[in-house]
Amino acid sequence: MRYLILSDIHSNLEALDAVLAEAPRDQFDRIIVLGDIVGYGADPNAVVERVRALAPHVMIRGNHDKVSSGVESAEDFNTSARFAAHWTQTTLTQENRDYLSSLPLGPLVVDSLIELCHGSPIDEDEYIFEPVDAIEAIRSARCPICFYGHTHVAIAYWLSADQFDVIVPEPDESVTEIVLDPKRRYLVNPGSVGQPRDGDPRAAYATFDSDTRIVRLHRVVYDIARAQQKIREANLPEGLARRLAVGK
Ligand code: ZN
Repeated sequence: MRYLILSDIHSNLEALDAVLAEAPRDQFDRIIVLGDIVGYGADPNAVVERVRALAPHVMIRGNHDKVSSGVESAEDFNTSARFAAHWTQTTLTQENRDYLSSLPLGPLVVDSLIELCHGSPIDEDEYIFEPVDAIEAIRSARCPICFYGHTHVAIAYWLSADQFDVIVPEPDESVTEIVLDPKRRYLVNPGSVGQPRDGDPRAAYATFDSDTRIVRLHRVVYDIARAQQKIREANLPEGLARRLAVGK
């Protein structure tokens, strides 16, 4: 089974289209989306419609999907995130808002191998940045591979009976290949399609082949200038445009 795993698209149509050009729908059996489809970027409706057209096998909600569809208030958001969430809420069509508000809560078990969450398998809104949190998350996960998002950092952690390690993609590489060891349990973040924060401005996504047991972390260049221009034309906060160029 071939999986395409997308997270934190954040209304960035240029980034999503670049990913789908490199990883077309028909090359995969199952599409998995880890939440935060909207928020920050200027194309919420087009992005929701692209994602719906992919007919994802499983999708879970992110914190921005909750706030932008009215499921939750924006009180925990910083100023620019809150501004963008309100803008997104008023820009979304009723149909797309309803679609986002109906997305299920993570964590969610997909099959015997894979579990999904937006933040962590313990709490959908928790951020995993530190190894200690990654270890706790792996221990809490019900499946040998747990995909998560939320931090916008592409990374993988693994834990065996007596070892733990972190796999960080090389900054110049377009693909980082991880051959899964059945004696290890994994926590994998594909990175963010639409607003990377790991210092690499390229759009990030992951693929997984359950036959070969290989996870690949991919990066693809996209038209950042166009995505920035749309953010400025929508009068969204300038910082949201600027950060795309540096991937921070
Ligand atoms: Zn996000």
